[in-house]
Amino acid sequence: MQKYIVSVSKKNNSVWKIYFYDENFEIHSERINPLLIWYYKLKKYHRKKGVCPNCRREYLLLTNWHDKSDWCPYCLDEYDEYDD
Ligand SMILES: [Zn+2]
Repeated sequence: MQKYIVSVSKKNNSVWKIYFYDENFEIHSERINPLLIWYYKLKKYHRKKGVCPNCRREYLLLTNWHDKSDWCPYCLDEYDEYDD
């Protein structure tokens, strides 16, 4: 499963959790090892609303410093259909 981490936060009793979107843009949370907080913070994405210049639909954009790809989930879906 692809994980787009959007939040790394501390809950009660020193439990750390990440919140992330999967490839279907569904949000999930998961308990993490506190030793890996730095790693998850590096991988964190920012949520931005974008409008696709191609299909003109509004979509949720996830960006971070190592992945600047500006992809539209609707157009991406159309590509999938022509995969083979
Ligand atoms: Zn599009």
